[in-house]
This record gives sequence, C-alpha cells and structure tokens, in this order.
Amino acid sequence: AKMQGRGILRFFSPELTRRAKERVALNADLRRALGREELRLHYQPQIDLFSGEIVGVEALVRWQHPERGMIAPGEFIPIAEDSGLVVPLGDWVLHEACRQIKAWSDAGLAPRKTAVNVSPVQLSRGQLVQSVKDALEQSGIAPAQLEIEITESFVMLDREQSFKSIAELKTLGVRLSIDDFGTGYSSLGFLQQLEVHTLKIDLSFVHDMATNSGNASIVKAVIALGHSLDLEVVAEGVEDEVQMRLLRSMRCDVMQGYLVSRPLPADDMTRFLTSFEPA
Ligand code: C2E
Ligand code: CA
Ligand code: CA
Ligand code: CA
Repeated sequence: AKMQGRGILRFFSPELTRRAKERVALNADLRRALGREELRLHYQPQIDLFSGEIVGVEALVRWQHPERGMIAPGEFIPIAEDSGLVVPLGDWVLHEACRQIKAWSDAGLAPRKTAVNVSPVQLSRGQLVQSVKDALEQSGIAPAQLEIEITESFVMLDREQSFKSIAELKTLGVRLSIDDFGTGYSSLGFLQQLEVHTLKIDLSFVHDMATNSGNASIVKAVIALGHSLDLEVVAEGVEDEVQMRLLRSMRCDVMQGYLVSRPLPADDMTRFLTSFEPA
C-alpha cells in the first residue's frame, strides 16, 4: 500500500505533495493522539434570548498537540473524515461529553441539553447509533440531555444509511439539531421529514445581518420557518449587542457566540455554570 501511495504522490505538484504529506503526518499523529488523551472538549453556552437563562452548551473538540500546540477542529476534522479516524474520534467525543454531562448533573449544574457535533461520515456508517447507546448507558444520563448536531451536507454520502441512522437516533430519545442551516441544501420537506428539534442559523448570516439586508431577510425567514415547524431556533456566532437585539426583534429563541462566551475548557465551563446569573 505504501508503494502505491508513493506512486500517486508523484503526480502532484510540489506544493500539493507537501500538503498531502502534511495531511498524512497529521493523520498519523491524530491516530496516536486518540490513545494519549491529547483531545479535549471545550464548551460554549447557549442563552435564551428572552429569559437570559442558559439552555444548553455545545461541545467542541480541540487537539492539544505535543509540538504544534492547540489545533482547531477545522484543521483536523476534515483529515479525520477522509481517513475514517473521525469514527473513533467521534466515539471519544460522545463518551467524554456524556461523562461531563453526568458530572454536571450530579453537581446540579447540567444545562437542559448538551450538543455534540457528528460528522456525516459517522452518520453514513452503521455504528453511530450503537456508540450513542453505549455512551448513554455508560454515563447514565437521560437521552434528552444529549443533542446531536448534524449538518445539511450529511445526505452527500450514503443517503439511505444516513436517514436510517437518524431515525434510530430518534428512537433512542436524543435530541437532533441541524447545524449551519442555510449554507447547504435542504428543503422544507427534508426538514419536516427529519423531525429535528433545533435549527442553528449559520454564523455567516448572523455576522452580516446588520450591514446586509439580504442576510437579515434570510435570518428572519429561517426563524419563521423553524417556528412554523415548532423548532427551537439558535443563532450562532453572535458577537455584539446589535446582533443580539436584532435577533430578539426577530423572535429568535437562543443565541450562542463570543458575546456571551468563547468555548471554554470543562473546568472553566463548570465555573461559568456555577456563577452564571441571567442578565
Ligand atoms: P460548528 O459546529 O459550526 O461550530 C461553531 C464554530 O464557531 C466553533 O468553531 C466555535 O468556536 C465558533 N464560534 C462560536 N462563537 C463564535 C463567534 O461569536 N464568532 C466566531 N467567529 N466564531 C464563533 P470551532 O470550535 O473551531 O469548530 C469548527 C467546526 O469544527 C465546528 O463548526 C464543527 O463543524 C467542527 N467540530 C467541532 N467539534 C467537533 C466534533 O467534536 N466533531 C465533529 N465531527 N466536528 C466538530
Ligand atoms: Ca455545531
Ligand atoms: Ca454551526
Ligand atoms: Ca460550521
């Protein structure tokens, strides 16, 4: 297999070859990282726009690389998706998030829900449902405390298996959320068919809302669409008060973003949950 790999690399330009090698190296490091506790989950709060209460947190993975320092998921998740490593990585994320939810529950600090991102690659393989089941059983949390975030693009892979995974996840009783809504390719029928609980408006729309009336209209339309299907609508990437007020005026339900807090290490999130008081 190694010889074959080299043969393929010969056809790339030097720059592509360098980048391909870099990806291979990072993937090998990641494989080791999984066994060495180099991955961490950070948590970002989600706040009800009207009551000011914390309604949830989202778990976001980070990689504390021994030489390169902290690596953001945007750099290694795509590589892990290509190699399939995202499957064991995703299992780790699920187990770690459920363990943390249990710890917060025992301390009386657990938010109503904790969201975990799931890759389309995980959904397109059969094992995801069993992994979620194992994570729920091992941690002993209630299924409804866990929300699985999927992106619209999941249908790009094995459509049938992906829909099957989603249907099975729902029978487990976990919540489902559509992430990055508006950037992909979904229809009303599609949303209704999936019967998700939450719609997350992509941050690109939220950022330009105040200056781009087209984007403001999209945000408004997505909120109306979500509400017509009885979904909770979350705006992500909320960075300032102008955006917050605009979202409130549009009756958006929940906000998440740097205005409230950056994603925090678990200990800091625990302190945040302990000391938080609605504004
Ligand atoms: P996402 O799920 O759409 O997560 C939102 C991203 O926006 C996060 O980046 C978050 O840190 C960032 N963010 C939050 N608030 C703000 C804000 O106010 N302004 C701006 N500019 N950004 C904000 P992060 O943590 O780097 O994650 C990037 C992406 O990596 C995620 O996008 C998600 O697609 C993926 N990802 C993260 N964790 C996991 C995971 O455990 N599994 C999988 N499969 N993917 C993950
Ligand atoms: Ca997400
Ligand atoms: Ca998102
Ligand atoms: Ca995203």
